[in-house]
Amino acid sequence: MADYEVDYSEIAGKLVSCPEQCGMCCLCQPEVLPEERKFFKDNYPQFLVRTKGPQPYSALALKKGRGSCVFLNGRRCKVYDHRTAYCRQFPYHLYASDKLKVELDLSCRGAWGNTGNDAVIEAKDLVKRADQRIIEALAESKEVYREFYANCKEAGVYQDPSMLRMTVAENVSMFTDLAYLSRIMDMAQIEPVMALSGTRPETQLDMESLEEAGRDLAMESMSSSDPLSVPVYCDKDWNWNMFMADGGKIEWMVMDDEGELHHKAFADAERIKLKVPEDDGIKVLTDYINILNQRDSFMGSVFSLMDQNGYEDDMTNAYFGCMAVTVMDLLWRMSMLDHFMGIGTGAEGVREAIIFYDMDRLDAPTIGAFV
Ligand code: SF4
Ligand code: SF4
Repeated sequence: MADYEVDYSEIAGKLVSCPEQCGMCCLCQPEVLPEERKFFKDNYPQFLVRTKGPQPYSALALKKGRGSCVFLNGRRCKVYDHRTAYCRQFPYHLYASDKLKVELDLSCRGAWGNTGNDAVIEAKDLVKRADQRIIEALAESKEVYREFYANCKEAGVYQDPSMLRMTVAENVSMFTDLAYLSRIMDMAQIEPVMALSGTRPETQLDMESLEEAGRDLAMESMSSSDPLSVPVYCDKDWNWNMFMADGGKIEWMVMDDEGELHHKAFADAERIKLKVPEDDGIKVLTDYINILNQRDSFMGSVFSLMDQNGYEDDMTNAYFGCMAVTVMDLLWRMSMLDHFMGIGTGAEGVREAIIFYDMDRLDAPTIGAFV
């Protein structure tokens, strides 16, 4: 085993279980690694497919081409002992930046209880199994990070990432306030470099444009007619809920175990009012922001945005701005779930919104790599 640093801090002290009614992560098409192909080729060649897109790879087929993996039967895996590395890894993500960090996907309902397996022990086993892939990913990502920091310094937009994290941590409670989020999002657009300490919330909050901003963010991730691309929310009764946005309307559907979609309701997006967390919900949101603030994958997505924008934004503005935008997206989704299902905006409402939201963070482009 090679010598590299692994950061387990996000999962320290956590217990993770996999309730047998769930199966939610089997809605994502698992990649089949070269060394895993033989089993499926010999036994189930009809279920081995190539994905579409610019970088196709071998994967397992989905029911009706859009539902769960074909091997999910009564929410249990029919090939459990031969499931892919991708299947074994969820809900952990191994993220390679200039080090390796283990992150825990909070869309997994099994990550929220206080029973199950010790997360660090499970993750150490996964790291061991993925050793060679990690070495290769780190060799590439370290180089990308070196180049990124050099570009930032040359453009005069570099800040110390650990200082940015410290500043967000010191001001974290402010990020649950809409007026503060609004101010941060405005300030992220303009020079000079933002300082969170001393930044006050908007005194005259333009609720209409704030609602529009939250709605646009959330609607963008839901605007697809392909069930493989829209966000999935596994609710407390283990229903797989999907939301598709089209022309200002959102359709709520539930997918059954065979990959059939069942219509539940429509909503006019403009009629969904942006809500804020109340009571214990504030604490749940604050905890989540603290987790995001320590995730290297979140930082990597901010860096990716800076790279796309040609290093025109200062890292401080980009980081604080992305944090504010992320919270807005989450709050709008909480408001939408409350609109459709009445989940509320207390601790339970915020927790359900995070369960709905956290997996979609994987879609954000990043300069590092998920191994
Ligand atoms: S999402 Fe979590 S609880 Fe659900 S099947 Fe996957 S690992 Fe198990
Ligand atoms: S192989 Fe098994 S664990 Fe993996 S996605 Fe399919 S049903 Fe789920």
